[in-house]
Amino acid sequence: MGTGTLHIDLNALVDNWQVLDRQSATETGAVVKADGYGLGAGRVAKALAGAGVRTFFVAAVEEATALRATLGQDPVIYVFSGHMDGDTQTLSDLGAVPLLNSPEQVSRHQARLPDHPFGLQIDTGMNRLGIETYDWSPEMSQDASLVMSHLACADEPDHQGNKDQLKAFLDMTAGLLAPRSLAATGGILLGPEYHFDMTRPGIGLFGGLPFEGAKAVARLDLPVIQTRTVKAGEAVGYAKAFIADKPHTIATVAGGYADGLIRALSGNATLYAGETPCPLIGRVSMDLITVDVTHLDTVPDHLTILGPQQSVDTLADAAGTIGYEILTSLGHRYKRSYS
Ligand SMILES: *Cc1c(COP(=O)(O)O)cnc(C)c1O
Repeated sequence: MGTGTLHIDLNALVDNWQVLDRQSATETGAVVKADGYGLGAGRVAKALAGAGVRTFFVAAVEEATALRATLGQDPVIYVFSGHMDGDTQTLSDLGAVPLLNSPEQVSRHQARLPDHPFGLQIDTGMNRLGIETYDWSPEMSQDASLVMSHLACADEPDHQGNKDQLKAFLDMTAGLLAPRSLAATGGILLGPEYHFDMTRPGIGLFGGLPFEGAKAVARLDLPVIQTRTVKAGEAVGYAKAFIADKPHTIATVAGGYADGLIRALSGNATLYAGETPCPLIGRVSMDLITVDVTHLDTVPDHLTILGPQQSVDTLADAAGTIGYEILTSLGHRYKRSYS
């Protein structure tokens, strides 16, 4: 087989949700935007719903279509981008709930879907999405099913920004009757004062930092297509980026930057033959990578790049990025298997 296999461990996903759920006394939702962080929103959401998740979050209403089809009518689906021009019909058809981000969105929603539920996102200092302090009045939250904001620095527990945003959130929402939500994965780990009525973990469910104890959810095995021996002085791959200093055995492995093994991994990443590390050498090409397997007694039929041996964050470090980007870049050529 000429493409890798992406195994998605739904039990590990559910375990991660349960551990995060137990950290707070409030409802724990699940963020499944970007096709469930690259792992398949439908499958992921179905497993989570089976474990008791009642509230899901996506980035855009387009993402809610597939979710509603898999989940049925019961779960609540919130849309972070709110009520955009052009969203009205889909929001209405799906019964998805927009998190309104601006006075314009509030007016649009009132004008077009006056009886349809809504939540509000307020800006507490991140300056990305949400109603600004100067546009905000607590009366806006009358009939809102959720008032939420998002933390910019929750992955750094000691960052002053967390306390500043918590204070701003408390100030803006004091005395409100609507349920409140501030914490994503990082916010859950900051402690109970960040939990309010609903938490919204994403990355932690999928095995990523800042949830240190997360179980690996994705395992990616890449087939070895060919092996060869190169002599001292021979070069491997584009731009002759690797030049052998002694004889090496090189495995050519299916998977490249078109599959989400981003080019910044060139010359830096590690693959695994079972537990044995094997360095990626030379450039990552579109469909292929080359790996040094000189030290192996036998070359296996596949090498593992994500799994218990190597988390999405360790792989991300090798490329100077974050686990979120590695996961959401995983390509569409892999054979996907769920267990
Ligand atoms: C992506 C996102 C989340 C989930 O964040 P994680 O860090 O993945 O847990 C929660 N809330 C909002 C507004 C988001 O954009």
